[in-house]
Amino acid sequence: MRRQKICSQKLTEKLNNLTAAEKERIDQVNELAHQLLKQYNLENIKFEFGYGRFDGIITGDRIRLHLFVALNSPIKVIRNIILHEVAHAIVGIIHKHREIWQNKALELGVTWERRYHK
Ligand SMILES: [Zn+2]
Repeated sequence: MRRQKICSQKLTEKLNNLTAAEKERIDQVNELAHQLLKQYNLENIKFEFGYGRFDGIITGDRIRLHLFVALNSPIKVIRNIILHEVAHAIVGIIHKHREIWQNKALELGVTWERRYHK
């Protein structure tokens, strides 16, 4: 809880002090995320940036992308992370990285290196 509070303060601070180039990148990533959510009829899912031990994460009705990743990774990588989470949203978070998720992820063109159990 405490750690989360510190994270969110750090996040707000960073978001309020972006350079022009970083702002442009954030807009670009936001646009990409919303375009993908719309494409897969997931407009009920919120997209936001965060800090924590993840690159991307989905909890309930929200997909979070690590702010550092958003600012520093190639758009191709970011797109892959968002689509990974989109696949979770489509098949249901409950299925984790099982075969049903893997099939959907493949269908969306998601690539991953980690070997997930079926
Ligand atoms: Zn996942």
